[in-house]
Amino acid sequence: MRIAVLGAGVVGVASAWYLRQAGHDVTVIDRQAAPAMETSFANAGQISPGMSAPWAGPDTPRKAITWLLMRHSPLVVWPLLDPALFDWVVRFLGNCNSAAYARNKARMVRLAEYSRDKLGELRAGTGIAYDARQRGLLQLFRTQKQADGVESDTFVLTTLGVPFEVLDRNGCIVQEPALAPVSHKFVGGLKLPGDETGDARLFTERLAKLAEAAGVVFRMGATITGLQSEGGRIVSVETDQGSIIADAYVMALGSYSPRLLRPLGIRLHVYPVKGYSITVPVGDAAASPVSTVMDETFKVAVTRLGDRIRVGGTAELGGWSTRLREARRGTLVHSLTDLFPGAADTAQASFWTGLRPMTPDGPPVIGPTKFDNLWLNTGHGTLGWTMACGSGALLADLIGGRVPDIQHDDLGLARYRL
Ligand SMILES: Cc1cc2nc3c(=O)[nH]c(=O)nc-3n(C[C@H](O)[C@H](O)[C@H](O)COP(=O)(O)OP(=O)(O)OC[C@H]3O[C@@H](n4cnc5c(N)ncnc54)[C@H](O)[C@@H]3O)c2cc1C
Repeated sequence: MRIAVLGAGVVGVASAWYLRQAGHDVTVIDRQAAPAMETSFANAGQISPGMSAPWAGPDTPRKAITWLLMRHSPLVVWPLLDPALFDWVVRFLGNCNSAAYARNKARMVRLAEYSRDKLGELRAGTGIAYDARQRGLLQLFRTQKQADGVESDTFVLTTLGVPFEVLDRNGCIVQEPALAPVSHKFVGGLKLPGDETGDARLFTERLAKLAEAAGVVFRMGATITGLQSEGGRIVSVETDQGSIIADAYVMALGSYSPRLLRPLGIRLHVYPVKGYSITVPVGDAAASPVSTVMDETFKVAVTRLGDRIRVGGTAELGGWSTRLREARRGTLVHSLTDLFPGAADTAQASFWTGLRPMTPDGPPVIGPTKFDNLWLNTGHGTLGWTMACGSGALLADLIGGRVPDIQHDDLGLARYRL
């Protein structure tokens, strides 16, 4: 089958890889000159089934008020007269209860664990290198209240079979020795030994090269302007470089997916949630993290990527603007220098922003649409790197009519119609 994959972020490229492995003729279309130039460019680098959870939880509305008042706030909301934002927030609030949280988290962990395992297979099968480490993740609690609250998370992790260790201060230092000089700044942590780290951009670029060598065609620099339909099927993708015809089409345009689906009468509840990162060369390896430290107070992840440190965080709601706001850099620098003083010279940091394609409930949308030959693989929010390989493999199974390795009926668009 000829399949057009729309989007060359980590999700689109992983989809193309698994579709090609299944024997299809695959063309990837993207407006950028190279893969992974948008949200997959400089994310926090966590491959984290252990932290796979929806943002919508029973405590989120209460916590959001506290966050909005903090100096280094993890949450910023720009008041916009945007019906899409309003609709998204209403749906998000509808998921802020215990039952929805448990349901959504279970779906996300299932896909994330599968994805981490598929990534491991891909790494073993191809030798792909992307500054990868398999050393777990440490969620660091600065306050006793955070440490006491860990029970609700560990209960869910136990139920879902995700390994974890609750650590005291010394346990945190064993996991991340560079934290020793600042041990008075935290009280304990949660270690997720199954989590991994790696550079999503490097991975996507290198997987695209492998895919190209295997026969996938990349049509880069082509802006998609619409999809043409006829009789319940998509007949072509329109781009500023002309039409592209395939037998099936995969929507993997991240935060831009809803814009291309709306004219087809498909409402996809994905809204951009802006985040920021800095990347700094390691100055002193002994003073740097060995894996990811998630600073729970500021919701900032500090990750070692080879000879660099990536610091990522902030959730900004307010449209599709990719303007860099200096205040956000300050929050990221604060987390890094507060926990790892002397690790790196932050004057050398590169500053970046990206738009997380977020669904209001948390899991991405993977599966069919009302058009026989249009498939969705989008809406991965905070976890697109974590879930990319599993999502690509699942989608390839669905398109090929094979029975997927994991349950999937609750990951598609149909879940919003219940
Ligand atoms: C600060 C930050 C930190 C993050 N940290 C993590 C993390 O630690 N772990 C994790 O798992 N996830 C993380 N994420 C989330 C993750 O980066 C995203 O979920 C993931 O990159 C989404 O991938 P995607 O392929 O769906 O979208 P994208 O990477 O945005 O790809 C979409 C592609 O579509 C193309 N496109 C869009 N519109 C058009 C058009 N009209 N025509 C042609 N091409 C078009 C774009 O050029 C782009 O290449 C983070 C995100 C941010 C912002």
